[in-house]
Amino acid sequence: MPQDPSARMHSISDETERVVDRVLDASRRRILLKDVPLDKPMTPADLARLASGSISPGGLGDARALALFEHVLAPACISVDHPEYLSFIPSAPSKAALAFDLVVSASAVYGGSWLEGAGAVFAENEVLHWLAAEFGLPEGAGGVFVQGGTIGNLSALVAARARARRVRRSVGAAMPESWVLVCSDEAHSSVASAAEVMDVELVLAPADADGRLRGEAVREALLEHGDSVFAVVATAGSTNFGTVDHLESIAALKDEHDFWLHVDGAYGLAGILTDQTRGLFRGVERADSVIVDPHKWLFAPFDACALIYRDPLDGRIAHTQSAGYLDTLNQADEWNPSDFAIQLTRRPRGLPLWFSLATHGTEAYREAIGACVRLAREIADEIRTRPELRLVREPDLSVVVFEREGWAMADYERWSAGLLEQQQAFVTPSSHHGRPVTRFAIVNPRSSVEKMTAVLDTMR
Ligand SMILES: *Cc1c(COP(=O)(O)O)cnc(C)c1O
Repeated sequence: MPQDPSARMHSISDETERVVDRVLDASRRRILLKDVPLDKPMTPADLARLASGSISPGGLGDARALALFEHVLAPACISVDHPEYLSFIPSAPSKAALAFDLVVSASAVYGGSWLEGAGAVFAENEVLHWLAAEFGLPEGAGGVFVQGGTIGNLSALVAARARARRVRRSVGAAMPESWVLVCSDEAHSSVASAAEVMDVELVLAPADADGRLRGEAVREALLEHGDSVFAVVATAGSTNFGTVDHLESIAALKDEHDFWLHVDGAYGLAGILTDQTRGLFRGVERADSVIVDPHKWLFAPFDACALIYRDPLDGRIAHTQSAGYLDTLNQADEWNPSDFAIQLTRRPRGLPLWFSLATHGTEAYREAIGACVRLAREIADEIRTRPELRLVREPDLSVVVFEREGWAMADYERWSAGLLEQQQAFVTPSSHHGRPVTRFAIVNPRSSVEKMTAVLDTMR
């Protein structure tokens, strides 16, 4: 065995074989676990007491480091793939996708350029092209998997503004004093964050009583702000309610106005894959850019957002970085994923989804998404039968928002903490127009109506 500690890290020896075996065994245990524990956070003081001191000159050795993770650190993290994790937007990766994520890491592929990662990039593009076709985008549509919806939205909007600037410049027109971005007040917080980063003005067009942004409201914003508007963001599945904006009437405005339509479908656009909800997305085929997060409702592990441009050249012009050492990449007319978003080095993070799709086929995806929609409808029916509960809105997709008569935020908080303490479920309070509510966000086909019903029983 080599004695030099640095050589030990990269050599193939009995010792490294043991490390790899232990790590793969631990992964196998976790991926194949029948009853995933829900788990819960620990205080910083408790973690400091139980887990401090792991970084040392000589190292703990793999057995102790792994035991620390399995027995102390991991149990202090809530399992997002637990079927009764129903807060925020959970994640329910397929076993194939989870396992293949290990292969992606092990294969040491640089996913930023065709030169370095052609095979991986080809496979990622197969997935992007399949998604684009499902959305009804034209043949040439394409893009890249980025870290998450926040970066996807920002990258798309930066490309939108770059195009608006080019158009202005090409006709010799002056730039507006301030570029305007239009969305509804139910749009995700990352849209406001993008506006902040880009230093553009955010105009909130009012949604209708159902929380749906419609063409009429967008038209008013377009008339008021004229061609300062460089983009309109429509939400295809709001995070709090799963409400899909009326894409068709918003897209129809393109006949009269020149703006970039970005569809933020981070959570909800996956719903286009099942007949039960496909109709809600009519109009998405006219988008200039869309995002959907496979780590939300497409059964892939963290982290992955599919960002797709109608015309990928718009993304490429906006995002290609140039530097002496990169010129060799940029001169060739090759598909370099890094050129389509705010990023350079990237993991081929679309591959776990690719592998799982290639393994199971697209029908399995349609069925699993359909199962979540059915679960949402069944539990909404159950909520309707209970006099102390009120459904706040009819679910469009797989988020069910409801309230308990007479409860204040403090009641929801106490109840939610109790559920987690009992390890029964992770369901957190939310709010709507200042009223406390709670919600079930269902992206796991293994969530059960019985267990969600048992959660409702705790609200009596
Ligand atoms: C989750 C979400 C985002 C942000 O995505 P991240 O992957 O968390 O960055 C953006 N838009 C919507 C509608 C979302 O639900």
